[in-house]
Amino acid sequence: MASTVIGIDVGGTNIKMGLVNQEGHIFFKTALNTKAYISDKEKLIKALAEVILVSLRQNKITVKGVAGIGIGLPGLIDPSAGVVRFLPNIPGWKNVSLKKYLERYTGIPVFLENDVNMITLGEWKFGAGRGLKDIVCITLGTGVGGGLILDGRLYRGAGWAAGEVGHIPLNEEGPKCNCGGWACLENSAGNQYLNAQAAKRFGRKVMAMKDVGDLARAGDKKAFAFWEEVGVHLANGLTGVVNLLNPSHIIVGGGMANNSRFIFPALRKRIKERAMVVQGRMVKVVRAKLGDDAGIIGAKVLVEEMILEIRAAMTDAV
Ligand SMILES: [Zn+2]
Repeated sequence: MASTVIGIDVGGTNIKMGLVNQEGHIFFKTALNTKAYISDKEKLIKALAEVILVSLRQNKITVKGVAGIGIGLPGLIDPSAGVVRFLPNIPGWKNVSLKKYLERYTGIPVFLENDVNMITLGEWKFGAGRGLKDIVCITLGTGVGGGLILDGRLYRGAGWAAGEVGHIPLNEEGPKCNCGGWACLENSAGNQYLNAQAAKRFGRKVMAMKDVGDLARAGDKKAFAFWEEVGVHLANGLTGVVNLLNPSHIIVGGGMANNSRFIFPALRKRIKERAMVVQGRMVKVVRAKLGDDAGIIGAKVLVEEMILEIRAAMTDAV
């Protein structure tokens, strides 16, 4: 199998790209600002293909030396059809055959996946989830994202939409959520809510989570209490996940995980208190290890798993 994998992480304002070697190390990185292409998807896909081909030339790697391109996108993806169904925070991306076009422009096999699933794959094989079979990976940031490895496989669900930990309803009634539901975990543990809460609590106009983190690091008692509450909110949602799936580990990543030492004690304590005996005793809450690179490294895992699956299907068909 060709040894290099191209990992791509699509965000709202830029697309990050990395070349990943056999050991899961990124040995080349670049990024493409998407602003100039916001209204023209075809132009954007062509520009992305160009970045890919130029990067390969710079690194003296031929197209044949690449096993595949793995792309993580923030939204609903159909990996089997290679279609981006819907990206809630990037306008205009609806039913885009990204796989087809990018394969045409680059000549390299392309595999798509939801971005949190990609992070989950990366952490599973090369980060905090190494050697484990049952993990729940959550990302704390603008939203609360989730990915599931169950029985040694990424669990995608019947419509590729599984793992939405942030949209577990906590109550029977509560605030409306962007997902169309209400009283979701994200409504009490996502950045939008927490930023507003922090501003109110600390009497400021605007307050980012980093500011509350800085206060906690400086020993501010109110900031400690704030993070403790975040831990309790998260635990209230995650207890259901723990009871349902009996994971051995919950891996916590995303920007807010920088404050894990203030969040984790309350999170762990509340899960132990609320979860059923076996599940609660077993589960360990740990911090993600790969940081911002998890998605790009996850692309390597995705590409290899998909190629193995395709080969197995072909053998079955013979
Ligand atoms: Zn929701």
